[in-house]
Amino acid sequence: MTGKAKPKKHTAKELAAKLDAATTNRGGGKAGQADRTGQVKGGHAKLECPHCKITAPDVKTMQIHHDSKHPKIQFDESKLNNLHATIPAAESSMPRPGIRGSLKK
Ligand SMILES: [Zn+2]
Repeated sequence: MTGKAKPKKHTAKELAAKLDAATTNRGGGKAGQADRTGQVKGGHAKLECPHCKITAPDVKTMQIHHDSKHPKIQFDESKLNNLHATIPAAESSMPRPGIRGSLKK
């Protein structure tokens, strides 16, 4: 065998990209089908960032996003938009929040 595995470095940019990938529902695959059709509780993500409209499934994830993207703004849980509370699940014709189309342009 040759040598040791090099330790991987994680840059802030890379971590932010991973966070974005983990918290943004791109609506792909079978799992995204229910979200795409908007049949389940008004979209996958529960909370929406009031500053940049990114969505997250819970407060903890949103706080990580907030600390990463808006470090100069005080994190205020009460200012988050609760999508499940504000959007009735019955509406199916509206485009769902937190669902982004293909990244390919
Ligand atoms: Zn944000």
